[in-house]
Amino acid sequence: MKRAIVRAARAAVLAAVAVTTALTATAEAATPGQVTAGTGWKLIDPAQTTSLSPGTYTIQFDSAAARTRLTPYLKLAAANTQALTPGVKFVVSTTIQRRVTTGCQKARTLVASLEYRPIGKKGFSWGGNCYSLTDHSLHSGAMRFDTEWWYPHWFSTTASTNTYRIRNSVTHEFGHVIGLGHPNKDLNRDGKISDFECPLNKDKSRPLMCSPNGGVVTSTGAGNYTPLDIPGLRALVANYRYR
Ligand SMILES: [Zn+2]
Repeated sequence: MKRAIVRAARAAVLAAVAVTTALTATAEAATPGQVTAGTGWKLIDPAQTTSLSPGTYTIQFDSAAARTRLTPYLKLAAANTQALTPGVKFVVSTTIQRRVTTGCQKARTLVASLEYRPIGKKGFSWGGNCYSLTDHSLHSGAMRFDTEWWYPHWFSTTASTNTYRIRNSVTHEFGHVIGLGHPNKDLNRDGKISDFECPLNKDKSRPLMCSPNGGVVTSTGAGNYTPLDIPGLRALVANYRYR
């Protein structure tokens, strides 16, 4: 893991309002044997981060305020992710580490910040990463959360639903920071990849990584991946063997 470069910015579309996103990533494998897309999941870019390297990635915080606000949500996201990535751990620390604004974060760190409209759009947060130039495994990443998500009733006027949707949204950004992209697809063949246009799970829920606002909105499902997301996490682990 000698060097890494910043992957192309991809807005993490999790607006409380519908926003159109065009996704053009191809599904070509970066290296023979690697799998980079399937039904209901895909990596952000098969030419960039394609695997997780064994060991621990540590979540740090850009500020004390970010740590206070985000810790419970990121603990849930980290635990739910780690349960599906054998050999790869995600540990939420208490460390304050300012987010590097140009270039990559320190190796094996994922830095979370809390910012008002980090990419200038209402309700949008962002998650992106750097990859190792030697083997395209995850090097480091940043998650930039929009403070608006914690405004009263931002996602719903029903308190429990609001909480569940924040959980889903935070884990969605976590998915981006480790390399998962939006599985949105032009299913109705109208020439557009639209918001919410994703393959559905058996229970009709959309994948957590579907844009915007995928995932299951229940006490047990919130903040967790859905069956369609899981092969993507498995692939990030398995792909390391073919790096
Ligand atoms: Zn997203």
